[in-house]
Amino acid sequence: QQEIHLANRPKGMPAKEDFTFVKNSVPSPKVNEILVRTLYLSVDPYMRGRMQDAKSYIAPFELNKVISGGVVAEVVESQSDAFKQGDVVVGNLGWAEYSVATPNEIRKIDPKMAPISTHLGILGMTGLTAYFGLLDIGKPQEGETVVVSGAAGAVGSVVGQIAKIKGAKVVGIAGSDEKIDYLLNVLGFDAAVNYKKDSFWTDLKNSVPDGVDVYFDNVGGDVSDAVFTMLNRNARIPLCGSISSYNAEGNDTGPRIQSAMIKTSAMMQGFTLGDFATDFERGFTDLGKWLLQGKLKYEETIVDGFENTPEAFLGLFKGTNLGKQLVKVANP
Ligand code: NDP
Repeated sequence: QQEIHLANRPKGMPAKEDFTFVKNSVPSPKVNEILVRTLYLSVDPYMRGRMQDAKSYIAPFELNKVISGGVVAEVVESQSDAFKQGDVVVGNLGWAEYSVATPNEIRKIDPKMAPISTHLGILGMTGLTAYFGLLDIGKPQEGETVVVSGAAGAVGSVVGQIAKIKGAKVVGIAGSDEKIDYLLNVLGFDAAVNYKKDSFWTDLKNSVPDGVDVYFDNVGGDVSDAVFTMLNRNARIPLCGSISSYNAEGNDTGPRIQSAMIKTSAMMQGFTLGDFATDFERGFTDLGKWLLQGKLKYEETIVDGFENTPEAFLGLFKGTNLGKQLVKVANP
């Protein structure tokens, strides 16, 4: 079996050389352990932060050790009463073709409820992030204007759709015409703006004639600078991510936002999904219900083959994904 190790702490945009493929024998489960075979791997922007040796809400990846992340896998051999061969599970496991897990590291999923890959996306970490960040921090009201950046990605696409369910007017910001078309014509956003166009500020201004009540920020940087000039009084800003600076060397600079926030009495709150850990059941229930009712749509960009995992990860910073980026490692 193969696994992927972090070979270097990347400088700027990571390169394929920062990852090494290591061959190992398939591990054997000990008492109370479960051997699983990876079916899908999740690649996520936050992993870039774990590649640096810096203090954060989550420990850095160790050099020359297996990288870990969200995985959907099938139980091959179980030494625990809680799992049996053939069970499909989700958990935070290695970028590896096989892993050994303890029962508290994995959770059984129901393959009949929805495609198993959705437990890494709309019914998993990114869906929950959208749900809690928008509803518990952004608190959109009917008729308000919600702007979301990174709108065609895993988190952003769910944010916009939940905001529509709550009766808000939704404006998405994304980086290609194909994504704009998806937001408008598949997800039914009220407006969508391409931030890579020279006319971005004007286009955004024209699409928020009533100003911005909630800004769900996934990207930071120049995109957010523009949105901050259009805030309404008492605007709420869930700060979810700032992918535009994840590969920056040195400090990011830009217009200062304090005066925009003072003038509007806006509220900005950073969060990580873990803040809502005691409430996940509410999120799973609502997301599952809306999915079954057809109120939520989702897209997955699936790269085939374990060997393509680094490339799939790097694609997140180039915007090659529509919806959730996954790697398919094996068939169930
Ligand atoms: P996405 O599926 O949105 O993929 C990343 C997207 O970011 C790309 O498709 C690309 O889209 C966009 N992007 C890349 N570089 C830039 C840039 N320089 N400026 C603007 N946009 C850029 O990823 P996720 O949905 O998984 O994550 C979205 C954000 O949410 C990330 O910042 C992530 O770190 C954060 N996050 C935070 C969590 C939390 O608990 N706080 C949990 C999960 C995610 P485009 O083509 O539009 O440029």
